[in-house]
Amino acid sequence: MGKTPEEEHPVKAFGWAARDASGVLSPFKFSRRENEEYDVTLKVLYCGICHSDLHFLKDEWGMSIYPLVPGHEIVGIVTKVGSKVQKVKVGEKAGVGCLIGSCHSCDDCANDRESYCTKQILTYSTTYYDGTTNYGGYSDIMVCNEHFVIRFPDNLPLDAGAPLLCAGITVYSPLKYFGLDKPGMHVGVVGLGGLGHMAVKFAKAFGVKVTVISTSPSKEKEAIEHLGADSFLVSRDVDQMEAAIGTIDGIIDTVSAVHPLLPLLNLLKSHGKLVMVGAPEKPLELPVFPLIMGRKLVAGSATGGLKETQEMIDFAAKHNITSDIEVIPMDYVNTALERLVKGDVRYRFVIDIGNTLHAT
Ligand SMILES: [Zn+2]
Ligand SMILES: [Zn+2]
Repeated sequence: MGKTPEEEHPVKAFGWAARDASGVLSPFKFSRRENEEYDVTLKVLYCGICHSDLHFLKDEWGMSIYPLVPGHEIVGIVTKVGSKVQKVKVGEKAGVGCLIGSCHSCDDCANDRESYCTKQILTYSTTYYDGTTNYGGYSDIMVCNEHFVIRFPDNLPLDAGAPLLCAGITVYSPLKYFGLDKPGMHVGVVGLGGLGHMAVKFAKAFGVKVTVISTSPSKEKEAIEHLGADSFLVSRDVDQMEAAIGTIDGIIDTVSAVHPLLPLLNLLKSHGKLVMVGAPEKPLELPVFPLIMGRKLVAGSATGGLKETQEMIDFAAKHNITSDIEVIPMDYVNTALERLVKGDVRYRFVIDIGNTLHAT
């Protein structure tokens, strides 16, 4: 210890970091470890801005390590591979998502569910095996063990594909795990933001009927005409909600604000599943009677394991599924974060790192 972020490793790196819980980002010189035999080095071209970046920047989850370079929707071109690397070659497109380490020996790791490993290492604001701090993708280069690198098929655009690495897998995984991917099923998606719009796209590609449930009637046109949802429910419209009682097989709930669960449980058929992927800061009230009477399930789901993330990326490439994005230059990032707080983005900001991050 005692070395500055710039001195601790041999490879010079540059990015934008927050220095404290104000969360304001500014240029930051640091370093990356030498590319070892199982490592892949990426020249970062794009990085998505995830809602959890905001929470980390402001230390809202109490686990932030400053200086903090966020970003876990990282895509770019492979510039270096270690001698043992088999997954990618120099010159290929690749990405790194939410994880850069896990124990490889627990039950979850053994079953390709690294996102549930209790010893997982998140991509940034964590400590690596060598004791140094991990920095995320708002930076020019990334060094990562190949196990946590995702291959990007050539036809998948890097900019609009970047958000698949967190937003995409976070909705794809529960749709698959909870069996909500069978043609003919009826799936509800609560909230139409970064996660919700991806859930609609994947669910439609699985061939299920999709109903978007939102507090904003203004989103109906967008949900149906642009994203291809089959129907739309305004959650505050009691008549609409009542007419839809008992019609949905499963719901992906992406809302991270406190909200009532009873109206959603009522929408489910018997044996239906309500899956929470948004993370409200306060506990929600859970009415048990409707659960018992309908043998309904309330569950949570994190991102997916690496094998499933690759499967999701390949599926997205095959079905032309990408995120709707607003590409921004690096120096717009603080404004973008302010807009993200207000939900003022359709649906994901992606930073054009390759063209707009200039070392100072
Ligand atoms: Zn994320
Ligand atoms: Zn593990």
